Amino acid sequence: MSQPKDADARRAIKPVICYPNETLPVPNLALYAQARAGAEKVSEVLVPPRDAACFHAKTGQFFRISSVDGPQVGDLNLWNANDLNERFYSGKSRALHGTHLTTGERMWSSFPYLRPMATITEDTLGWYGMDQYGGSVHDVIGTRCDPYTGNLLSGSQYHHCCHSNLTRALADELGVSLQEAEPHVHDVLNVFMCTGFTRDTGQYFMKASPVRPGDYLEFFAEVNVLGALSACPGGDCSAEHSSDTAACYPLLVEVFAPQEGALGDWQSPPVNGYDLSHGR
Ligand SMILES: [Zn+2]
Repeated sequence: MSQPKDADARRAIKPVICYPNETLPVPNLALYAQARAGAEKVSEVLVPPRDAACFHAKTGQFFRISSVDGPQVGDLNLWNANDLNERFYSGKSRALHGTHLTTGERMWSSFPYLRPMATITEDTLGWYGMDQYGGSVHDVIGTRCDPYTGNLLSGSQYHHCCHSNLTRALADELGVSLQEAEPHVHDVLNVFMCTGFTRDTGQYFMKASPVRPGDYLEFFAEVNVLGALSACPGGDCSAEHSSDTAACYPLLVEVFAPQEGALGDWQSPPVNGYDLSHGR
């Protein structure tokens, strides 16, 4: 294919940021830290390897996802516990914050709500930054490992991908069938997963997660959160992610409640202010 004469000039145009985020509402991390300091643990759940579990964090509570026993990646879904139609919107969170999330950044919800569901308040892997391959941790670029893609690429029938794990966990939590639960499962925050896009082909890559037992990612629940976390069958995702070959470990979810009044006059963010008229 021939190139136009000004091909180099066109390629040399400087990019602009699609969504400059200086006008995003800024979370009051100092207030959250103060509230967290006096908070007490109210519940915990240990997510078994190659399986998922649900948890609840009420508005204003904190939830922490910790690596225990060995390096392990987790696939996180969030819903508004009062209305499952409001759920985490991975694509818009990526557009607003970038490919990977860390402290001070938010998990935003789907339309028409588009508000913060949870804010990352602590990230013990925040030191990792961006490595020489363009890889970083806690991505919103992958979707979730699922049996359909495995079947498409290799004809497999594997049942412990994160998509299926999340579907079973949500079905059990809600007391509904797998068929009713499955449409609620959505693209995830890949907790502890180290990923990027290759420079030459633009392909999604993963590499062994730098997470070690004791590392954690902690969130402030901006709304009443129902969460589901899958301990990915890929383990640390150094090689495979849709089989029983990788070493897998549990993940711990702990929920903490601040003392009464610790959040002062803080209020849960309102739903998005767009008037929904769509020009009619
Ligand atoms: Zn997975």
